[in-house]
Amino acid sequence: MRCPFCHNPDSRVIDSREADEGATTRRRRSCPQCGRRFTTVEEAVLAVVKRSGVSEPFNRSKVVAGVRRACQGRPVDEDQLAKLAQQVEDTIRASGAAEVPAHEVGLAILGPLRELDEVAYLRFASVYRAFTSVADFEKEIAELKARPTGAAAPAAGPSDGP
Ligand SMILES: [Zn+2]
Repeated sequence: MRCPFCHNPDSRVIDSREADEGATTRRRRSCPQCGRRFTTVEEAVLAVVKRSGVSEPFNRSKVVAGVRRACQGRPVDEDQLAKLAQQVEDTIRASGAAEVPAHEVGLAILGPLRELDEVAYLRFASVYRAFTSVADFEKEIAELKARPTGAAAPAAGPSDGP
């Protein structure tokens, strides 16, 4: 790790600790050349493997982009999209795998999106699950209707954490 002060290409790790429940590692480093200290934060890369076999880093903004498309014209704001993407990331990280297939990202989107907006959910599910007929929609809508009433309402009030 290059020293940010003198650009010496070498540095020594003097302390290392996990943060954000292990998602990141903070390292305290010292530069053997100028003696100054600095901190680096390393984030474990969560990879998404596409059907083609190519893997890429998990990207929350890609989740947001995909969901935003399904939410066009729906009363869903950017905050809600960001929150959903965070939920998706949490779900995937909680699986404990360093690599997840792309379809699992889609799966992780479906649950919170259904809670957010049922129309957007249907749009997203139709693409994700490759609905091929009206019957596919009817089946999905029947499932939505079969859910207990009120389940779609936000569970938490405005005081949802600090
Ligand atoms: Zn230095």
